[in-house]
Amino acid sequence: PTAMNDINLNPPTIHWQDIGGQDTLKKALGLMVKYTKNPERFLRPPGKGILLYGPPGCSKTLSAQATATESGFNFFAVKGAELLNMYVGESERAVRTLFERARAASPSIIFFDEIDSIGGQRTGAGGSASRNTGAVNMLTTLLTEMDGFETLTGVLVLAATNRPEAIDPALMRPGRFDQVLYVGPPDQAARETIFTVNTRGLPVAEDVDIPELARRAEGHSGAEIKAACNDACVIAQGSFEDEDEAVSKPQVKMADLEGALQ
Ligand code: ATP
Repeated sequence: PTAMNDINLNPPTIHWQDIGGQDTLKKALGLMVKYTKNPERFLRPPGKGILLYGPPGCSKTLSAQATATESGFNFFAVKGAELLNMYVGESERAVRTLFERARAASPSIIFFDEIDSIGGQRTGAGGSASRNTGAVNMLTTLLTEMDGFETLTGVLVLAATNRPEAIDPALMRPGRFDQVLYVGPPDQAARETIFTVNTRGLPVAEDVDIPELARRAEGHSGAEIKAACNDACVIAQGSFEDEDEAVSKPQVKMADLEGALQ
């Protein structure tokens, strides 16, 4: 009965506009939502599932959450590693129950984060079994559930990984994760959005130049930019004068953000 503890039915409210860039990704996810709502309007199904891959902290999870917020679909999120930590047999049951619950609550989204930990290659080099049987059984269960999906309308399956090369090719066959999309680091415009979103609601000093910060953050992930915004608050707080009774809180200045980025 505890197997489903890690399912998160109430994802944070994330809108498309909170995500900088990633236009292709947003379009593909939006199309899948349309299909899930009105399959009869499509000449061909755009696929059953989407696998998102790319470096850490670049909005894979965020995009899955935004898909849930924007569509209003129920959201079932599970981390591969958590399934793997369950007792023998329990994790397969957890996967089956997950699909059952998603069907019952449709329209819904199932999001497998870190899918490589359960959907990894079943055999290693030379054909020797390189994976524990628990993971193999779970992968088989997952494939069965996705194949049995034919009659299953109203469930959109998403998955994410940082290691696409480790994914068992069986997961990418037609009728499973038909679409494999790269979610890359943010570009200049996306970095500007990430700074804007993460300084929203903060008292920001007039000298803060977001395009300039975004230029300096080139090569950084969204997660790193978010962390820099948080660190800037700590820096600003540290230099705040207790005796300054004119204002009750410090302002975040350009220098604080630059310092945090470094
Ligand atoms: P991981 O592979 O580590 O799970 P991920 O790609 O799933 O990474 P997210 O959890 O989606 O990464 O992103 C981490 C945080 O970084 C988000 O909560 C968000 O604050 C910020 N972020 C990343 N990319 C963007 C973006 N394009 N727009 C706005 N925020 C972003």
